Amino acid sequence: MSASTASTKPTSPVPFDEALTRYEPVLGLEVHVELGTESKMFCACPTAFGAEPNTQVCPVCLALPGTLPVINSIAVESIIRMGLALNCTIVEWCRMARKNYFYPDMPKNYQISQYDEPICVDGYLDVVVPLPDGEGTTTVRVGIERVHLEEDTGKLTHAGGATGRIHGADYSLVDYNRAGIPLVEIVTKPITDTGALAPAVAKAYVAELRDIMRGLGVSDVKMEEGSLRCDANVSLNRPGDEWGTRTETKNVNSLRSVERAVRSEIERQAGVLDAGGRITQETRHFHEDTGVTTPGRSKEQAEDYRYFPEPDLVPIAPDAAWVEQLRATIPEQPSIRRARLAQDWGIGAFEMESLVNAGVLQLVETSVEEGVEPDAARKWWAGELLRVANERGVEPQDLPVAPGDIKRVEELIAAGTINDKLARSVFDGIISGEGDADAVVAARGLTVVSDDSALLAAIEQALVDQPDVAEKIRGGKVAAAGAIVGAVMKATRGQADAGKVRTLLLDHLGVAEG
Ligand code: ADP
Ligand code: MG
Ligand code: ZN
Repeated sequence: MSASTASTKPTSPVPFDEALTRYEPVLGLEVHVELGTESKMFCACPTAFGAEPNTQVCPVCLALPGTLPVINSIAVESIIRMGLALNCTIVEWCRMARKNYFYPDMPKNYQISQYDEPICVDGYLDVVVPLPDGEGTTTVRVGIERVHLEEDTGKLTHAGGATGRIHGADYSLVDYNRAGIPLVEIVTKPITDTGALAPAVAKAYVAELRDIMRGLGVSDVKMEEGSLRCDANVSLNRPGDEWGTRTETKNVNSLRSVERAVRSEIERQAGVLDAGGRITQETRHFHEDTGVTTPGRSKEQAEDYRYFPEPDLVPIAPDAAWVEQLRATIPEQPSIRRARLAQDWGIGAFEMESLVNAGVLQLVETSVEEGVEPDAARKWWAGELLRVANERGVEPQDLPVAPGDIKRVEELIAAGTINDKLARSVFDGIISGEGDADAVVAARGLTVVSDDSALLAAIEQALVDQPDVAEKIRGGKVAAAGAIVGAVMKATRGQADAGKVRTLLLDHLGVAEG
């Protein structure tokens, strides 16, 4: 440990807004994405999550003597696509590197990674960041330093102790199923000048990165399962000074925690600096329950790893034509797509966000592409269909409802054949496998009763049934009409147009609308 430890007395954190009046934060985000390849980085072992420990291993990923790694071409293709999506330059030639260290979760006493020759360099990502108090958004360009390929480690379980940590444990178990799964690390350039927005920028960056990776189909990017993990570097400096010493908060595993970890680290560092202390360069852990970070290990310097080019693998030299082919497969950036669709559909950022959160954006987009009106597509997918999906415990996209069904339902409503209420029953029939919209309407007898004489008969019956209400309406109490309209709707099993019933009723009694 460095000498600064001695001078670091416990200090209390400074409230966030106050800290920002004296210090400027600098951020650096390192995101690890576990690729969704079927086999591991250097062998043919499967990568599926959740298998029995040590059942997805072989001599290569266990690093038995005499074995040699062979690189996974899908992993190389995936990282090139990731680099392109992040506006990086794909280098013409690079090598893997050996990072030497020993830890029991790693069967070799080194990790095959990349060091000074990463495959993707010098990119950027434009991130839309919400301003506090709903004052709209601002776009922040985050520079990407490099995107490189490496292999994941195994997993240790410390048993017998109260905390699950190694301290106090009776014994430890190791599972090498994850050892050798391809991992991509994305490292930002230092992110400066964000001030009080720093925590929100960190969160928005990780969220956008996650959406991009999902769109590329290279990973399932589940933070809760660890297939996307973020290390957040934070430092503070006084305005005009050089950047301060950074800490690195490791393995933050939710978007909310990324924001909270950055915020609490700013508050903590400001307390140390205010008291005249120095920040130790170290890794830290974020605790979800208390919302603060605590120290991990003091950080190794790069020379401690004794990096050298991996001698067992040939260099990677992606062909320019192949890179261009891959470039053509990169989808539109999610935030740009959302802004474009919101504009096309005439909705605001808030409505767009609720479609995204409900997980129905793609469904609405597909429906609109197939000719459904944007308002109708939004109304059904974010409303009734989402409700039914939740009720049945399925994802909305797994409901057997096609854009054509929504289109037909809307046509039937426009023609006055059914109303919104009956439309819900039509969808219920479609989802229950009773056929298409027309078949359900016919089989369930779901048409609006628009035949005036049938409606009048029902109105007269209701007036007879409720003579006191009838009297009130005749006496000019139009508000009482609701009871009769309700009775008629009930008598027609909801298949009448309530507005029309009301008009017919008032005409029939010769009372003017109040
Ligand atoms: P390490 O190997 O220590 O993880 P990396 O280079 O992989 O180092 O990542 C360091 C991260 O910290 C990068 O995102 C970098 O931009 C960022 N960074 C560098 N200097 C500072 C600083 N003074 N304050 C905050 N972040 C920094
Ligand atoms: Mg790093
Ligand atoms: Zn293997």
